[in-house]
Amino acid sequence: MSSSETCIFVPGEAIHKIAGSSLSGGTLVLQFSQADEIFVVAAVEIGHDIRSSTLPSRDYLALNGVNASFDGQWLRAPEPGDATSLHLQHLLLARRPLAAIPIDVFRDLVAGVRDPGNKRGFLITHDPQLPPELRDLGCPEFAGWTIERTGVRPLPLQIEPECFGIEQLAATWPVERMSTIRVLLVGCGSIGSAAAEALASVGMGTIDLVDPDRFLWHNMIRHSLAKESVGRFKVDAMREHLRERWPHTTVHPHREDVVEDAHTVRQLFKEADVVICAADGIAPRRVVSHLARRAGVPSVLACVLEHGAVGELLRLRPTPRFGCLLCMRAALANEGAMDAEADQELGYGTGSTHQPMSAVPPDLRLIGTLAAKVAVATVLESRHGDHTQRLPGEHAIIGLRPAGDLAPPFDVSFAGEIRWSTIPSPRPTCPTCSPP
Ligand SMILES: [Zn+2]
Repeated sequence: MSSSETCIFVPGEAIHKIAGSSLSGGTLVLQFSQADEIFVVAAVEIGHDIRSSTLPSRDYLALNGVNASFDGQWLRAPEPGDATSLHLQHLLLARRPLAAIPIDVFRDLVAGVRDPGNKRGFLITHDPQLPPELRDLGCPEFAGWTIERTGVRPLPLQIEPECFGIEQLAATWPVERMSTIRVLLVGCGSIGSAAAEALASVGMGTIDLVDPDRFLWHNMIRHSLAKESVGRFKVDAMREHLRERWPHTTVHPHREDVVEDAHTVRQLFKEADVVICAADGIAPRRVVSHLARRAGVPSVLACVLEHGAVGELLRLRPTPRFGCLLCMRAALANEGAMDAEADQELGYGTGSTHQPMSAVPPDLRLIGTLAAKVAVATVLESRHGDHTQRLPGEHAIIGLRPAGDLAPPFDVSFAGEIRWSTIPSPRPTCPTCSPP
């Protein structure tokens, strides 16, 4: 059955009440929304003349938009498997859009169906003892019908599931592991907000957000937040935004500047499993590189360079094999590569008029999402020995709108191209990498 058809939405509350009622059948109240052509089960008779409301929560705006009410009926199979053939018929009929059961035949199959008169009647049948082999075929425990004198046809039910969070992915995704991971995210701008959403959507247990700034009008075009958050501190508004959509993730907001408040933020590095830096400018990146190394946690630095031409992700793992940000830049400078950080010092992405924002929202979102993926892959490997998302290197250059005139390793040619490379080992004299 296609989900484009008119259908009945059945809140979980209605399912519980029908399944738990001692009656063998009763009335239903259906609310109809004309704009979306949907019916919603709004009340169920659970005892003789006792109706109980089953309306979905007000968060389901479309399911609460009502134009009209209709009476309906629910019926349970009185004997084990009595409705089995009925629900099998439902399955078969649903595959033949124009097919119908003559009403007399239908009333022989299930006792107690009310005469619809000249109107259209609505019925939900419940077979609690449906044999497993029929369930496996796709035969429903609850089935919806429209009853007319011209015939009875299946009406699709959309039943609210018991669980529809990240747990739904438990068979294919390490949901349990994710719930134990803590990420420190420095910078809640356009890249940071996209990273935060990606982290929450994969089931991250805890996210610490660090950003001292307010959300202002000029941020709106490239950010996950919208009008209602203008004027608020980004970290507070983001916590609410994430909590609404991904309530399983705990979010701690910190209105702090990683550079100026390094002494207080330092503790967060020690508690984190991985750090993402999506803050603008050289200084925050250097502080994150240093504090993460000293805390012994991996970090991922994300930015967009050259007026939105390329994105860059740098993974810094605190092992003798890989150096820090300064070691990396020193090596690039020795090779005569461009000074990527000088580009950042111009205030890229701050919205100031001397450096107009030139990266488009989806490009920034791509970099933020990829930064989250790199962080997740890194923690799964380092903490859990899970290599399923192993990455090809430590340094990625992502083509966004490359003009093809940059020095290596930034000289990607195509939008969508990702070039991975490794990074040098620590310099012997590095103040960050050498033991304290
Ligand atoms: Zn170093």
